[in-house]
Amino acid sequence: MKRRGRLKAAALAALVLGGGAFGGAEEEVFSVGPVRAARGTSASGFIDVPAKADPGTRIPVTVIHGAKPGKVLAFVAGTHGAEYPPILALHRIREMVDPKTLAGTVLLVHIANLPSFVRRTVYWTPHDWKNLNRVFPGDASGTLSQRMARVLTDEVVKKCDALVDMHCGDANEALIPYSYWIISGDRAFDARTKDLALAFGIRHIIIDTERTKDPKDSKYLGNTAVLMGKPAVTTESGFLGRSDEEDIARNVQGVLGVMKLYGLIPGRPEPPADPVWIDRYVVVNAGADGVWEPQAAMGANVAEGQTVGLLRDYFGRVLEELKAPFAGLVLYIVGTPPANKGEPLFEVGRVKK
Ligand SMILES: [Zn+2]
Repeated sequence: MKRRGRLKAAALAALVLGGGAFGGAEEEVFSVGPVRAARGTSASGFIDVPAKADPGTRIPVTVIHGAKPGKVLAFVAGTHGAEYPPILALHRIREMVDPKTLAGTVLLVHIANLPSFVRRTVYWTPHDWKNLNRVFPGDASGTLSQRMARVLTDEVVKKCDALVDMHCGDANEALIPYSYWIISGDRAFDARTKDLALAFGIRHIIIDTERTKDPKDSKYLGNTAVLMGKPAVTTESGFLGRSDEEDIARNVQGVLGVMKLYGLIPGRPEPPADPVWIDRYVVVNAGADGVWEPQAAMGANVAEGQTVGLLRDYFGRVLEELKAPFAGLVLYIVGTPPANKGEPLFEVGRVKK
């Protein structure tokens, strides 16, 4: 029964979108905040997040409104401001995509968290020290991160048909590329989301059954879209504050693959030939503040109980020996010394048999 209800809601959302109720793909002018693109043109500009107790911020976006109608796709980079390859990839997409031949509309959020980018912070937004990707769908009267989330929900998530939230290892995280395929429980919808993850082309895909189902506290950007009936994936490609060509190119190819899947540009997506499905994952957090000494590389295979790293106190004495909770792959591992109680040190994923 529940499943049927969900399907109905998704079908209704599709009808509403098809009618262009959001000033969307069928309209002559597509607007994201004050950024307006006429059919067959592109426009770049800022969405304002007005000041409150903090100075507020603005979010740089590009709207590429194709000459031909079609789906509206959103690609969001820089939710964490020190994750660079997705940000650089969207610059290339902005140059590559020609609105005159595009069938549909592309929304590029170049740097979702500009305060974090400018101040080069890991995880946290300056001013309120919250993680933007834990406060969705946001709150218009909240702190800076909450208000940014609200603007992104209203101006981007609500106006798109599908969304990719593009991350990578933060400036402290050594990470192999992988995606999160968020499972909603609605099989038909989840099949569409699976196609989206495959179209992006990253080989390792987490089957993610652990996201909250509460739309008022969806926490994550991707999950917010899923709970609104819109296919969405979270991708990770890049690591340790680097801007390697390989990771930028993987992000560019991913965006183009998704555009092909939804018919915005000609061609077919190229899913990975041998996808690796991860059916269980655990993030292991630091039990105390201290100094982290990783003892496994990103992508390493670890056995159950194998030591993955040591947590020392500020004098170098071992506080904790962190072990793999089960056999699997080290999807990411913190690669720099600072460790704070409750913050991640590494993530292990189990490869589905
Ligand atoms: Zn991130």
